[in-house]
Amino acid sequence: MTAAPSLPRIAVVGSGIGGLTLAAALAASGTPCEVFEQTRSMTETGAGVQLAPNAARHLRRLGLRPALDEQGVAVEEMRVYGWAGGTIAATPFGAACEMLYGAPYYAVHRADLQQALLRLVGPRPLRLGHRLKAVRRDGEDMVLAFEDGTTRRADLVVGADGIHSVVREHLVRDAPVFSGLGVFRGLVPVERLPAEAREPLIRIWLGPGRHFVCYPVSSGRLMSFAAIAPLAGAGAESWSAAGDPAELVAAFAGWRGLVSDITRAAGTVRRWALHDRPELRTWSSDRLTVLGDAAHPMLPFMAQGANQAVEDAVELASQLAGAHRDEVPGVLAGYERARAPRTAAVQQGSRAHADAMHLPDGPQQRERDLAMRRSAGLRGLRERAWLYGHEAGAVTPA
Ligand SMILES: Cc1cc2nc3c(=O)[nH]c(=O)nc-3n(C[C@H](O)[C@H](O)[C@H](O)COP(=O)(O)OP(=O)(O)OC[C@H]3O[C@@H](n4cnc5c(N)ncnc54)[C@H](O)[C@@H]3O)c2cc1C
Repeated sequence: MTAAPSLPRIAVVGSGIGGLTLAAALAASGTPCEVFEQTRSMTETGAGVQLAPNAARHLRRLGLRPALDEQGVAVEEMRVYGWAGGTIAATPFGAACEMLYGAPYYAVHRADLQQALLRLVGPRPLRLGHRLKAVRRDGEDMVLAFEDGTTRRADLVVGADGIHSVVREHLVRDAPVFSGLGVFRGLVPVERLPAEAREPLIRIWLGPGRHFVCYPVSSGRLMSFAAIAPLAGAGAESWSAAGDPAELVAAFAGWRGLVSDITRAAGTVRRWALHDRPELRTWSSDRLTVLGDAAHPMLPFMAQGANQAVEDAVELASQLAGAHRDEVPGVLAGYERARAPRTAAVQQGSRAHADAMHLPDGPQQRERDLAMRRSAGLRGLRERAWLYGHEAGAVTPA
């Protein structure tokens, strides 16, 4: 790998949302890197992803505004319903998000987002077909060893290699923790659904032990859904594991509104088990660090995993801008200081949400609904300032 004599040689492992955002943010500050990705072609199979203003703001600054405006859906409102009908709470996004937090709340197809990030990064830094097997220290260098037998030397290794991170193994010995829940995911063309499906809303239905989320993506042409329900075994954990549409219908039988329309219209369904990991005590050595799911895989109940990966990437790139090789250890310490407390709070919040969202019908559920109603509306949106208003990449004091 070549870089100007004083600049660190940076190896990013993984080209998911986190790795690609880091490459784009580094490029924007004139810092070169290489991105090593295990897959041979960049074809994203996942469904939708919610981009809250805390990430959307940065992605727009990096140049994704036209792509997000054209291919994403700017969400007007988040509505929460009971499984048997009735609105529990509604929170306005739309212009209110833009006014309070400087960007809309977007719903996007992961493939659209990945392609837009790829256009921003360009083909030069990408090294496809490179599956990292191990990383080790050799004197002042880090050595990356790939499955095909090749190696690469770097001054800094950034693990953006997801929940099964190989880079994380350099820091800690732990394993994904199964939540007991699984998720069915899929996309349904909106013309197969009632007209209300075209509204730019995030809709969430809550029921005992399970919940259902849907929102339009791809300029409003497709409805993305995630249906979360108990799962007997830990099972495979992949974006592409096949699910059985009949099981999806059965798992949400009797649920009202669009839930029943979507489950019956769903063709191809993906299903996998939901995991997170314990909080990471140490994110970095002097020449290696992690970001995104490699650092803090979280349950999807705050829809923040990818958003936090974007924040990590922006923070790390901003601290690396102009840094010399010998400054890397200090940069990594600053990055960890800036990111660890925030991502731990979101990881814990996501776990806590799982219990609250899945209460059985009864007094506790009614109390929860009242509390949700109180913290909805514009007031509720303002209360999320800690989440949506956070400015990653702002200088943190030592
Ligand atoms: C059901 C569900 C819904 C979700 N909804 C949302 C949402 O609405 N909003 C949100 O913000 N987040 C959401 N998330 C979370 C979000 O998808 C993840 O947090 C995010 O994709 C993590 O991005 P990443 O780049 O860190 O990792 P990944 O997207 O997992 O990317 C890792 C990359 O590394 C590559 N890789 C892995 N191992 C190696 C290796 N050994 N060598 C080389 N390359 C390797 C992989 O091929 C992949 O390209 C959801 C998650 C789930 C499960």
